[in-house]
Amino acid sequence: MSVSFLNLNYARLELKDDLDAAYRRVMESGSFILGKEVEAFEAEFASYCGVKHCIGVGNGLDALHLILRACGIGEGDEVIVPANTFIATWLAVSYSGATPVPVEPDERTCNINPELIEKAITKKTKAIMPVHLYGQCADMDAINATAKRRGLKVIEDAAQAHGAGYKGRRAGALGHAAGFSFYPGKNLGAIGDGGAVTTNDGELAEKVRLIRNYGSKVKYHNEVKGFNSRLDELQAAFLRVKLKKLDEWNGRRKQIAKRYLDALKDCAGLVLPFVPDWAEPCWHLFVARHAERDAIRAHLEKKGIGTLIHYPVPPHLSEAYADTGLKAGDFPVTEGLAKSVLSLPMGPHIEPREQADVIGEFGRRFAS
Ligand SMILES: *Cc1c(COP(=O)(O)O)cnc(C)c1O
Repeated sequence: MSVSFLNLNYARLELKDDLDAAYRRVMESGSFILGKEVEAFEAEFASYCGVKHCIGVGNGLDALHLILRACGIGEGDEVIVPANTFIATWLAVSYSGATPVPVEPDERTCNINPELIEKAITKKTKAIMPVHLYGQCADMDAINATAKRRGLKVIEDAAQAHGAGYKGRRAGALGHAAGFSFYPGKNLGAIGDGGAVTTNDGELAEKVRLIRNYGSKVKYHNEVKGFNSRLDELQAAFLRVKLKKLDEWNGRRKQIAKRYLDALKDCAGLVLPFVPDWAEPCWHLFVARHAERDAIRAHLEKKGIGTLIHYPVPPHLSEAYADTGLKAGDFPVTEGLAKSVLSLPMGPHIEPREQADVIGEFGRRFAS
């Protein structure tokens, strides 16, 4: 028995002809940067998310960084971020020159706790950057209400949330702007790096368009000091093919999550994902928790079942942020999660038989 945590072969198996055709189309067009494919993908992904604008960029980290720049956020400003997230959320803020201000998660959802945001706001705060962690939306109504009251921007880190629902709307359409990643392992993944910004704000969209391309609209006429962060034609062409399958693939993830939630509910001490009734997760990850996480992980490993930890080191305890002076004990909820979370095999590649093997192994481990 062997169940891999992640296997990206499914896209090739299911879409080989269309992906090959996309490759040929781009090669024959002779246009590789900012051409028709990127334009078409931007329109299609904007429509998928339910927003007016989408701008393709180099990766998810850049998407978040460019949004902050376009909002005029930088040196001397503060941005509220989840303490419990992938470090890219914090790095985007650091790149802009602003300071990430961490806030603890809600213990049940693992997403930023809206009730603690108010206390973290200072005169320097310019934005809140919630993350839809593991593919489940943060409590956006509460976050947007606080932001509105205090005159802040809300920037979604939607890197794990392609197609995730919140009260009938989709991630990417729930704040002022959102950053997506198309890293291969994400729910919508390219065959390399890629990212996008979505927004309903036309002015913001124009600014992001400008700064992703050297700050120039007209070649060699540079209005601002921009960056080079563009989604390329080949990735856009592949993403257009895969976008058509996203809902079906997310549907398979949902079935897998449902089976786990049902089959593992009686394992002693195992905390399963909590889904509020307003959330429709896209199940980027299925993250369970247990005090004996490491022993369980080692046991599964021996049986050929791949698991991962998202994330073992919270950003505030990483070497990269040693300069903040933050230390162990400062964010106990986040630190507790880092010690107990375990991501089970999840994705469109998991066959029912494979999932049955995983569930069977849990049964044996918890029966004894
Ligand atoms: C993947 C990810 C990013 C960064 O995306 P890249 O495309 O790898 O730069 C940012 N935030 C979160 C929460 C992510 O999971």
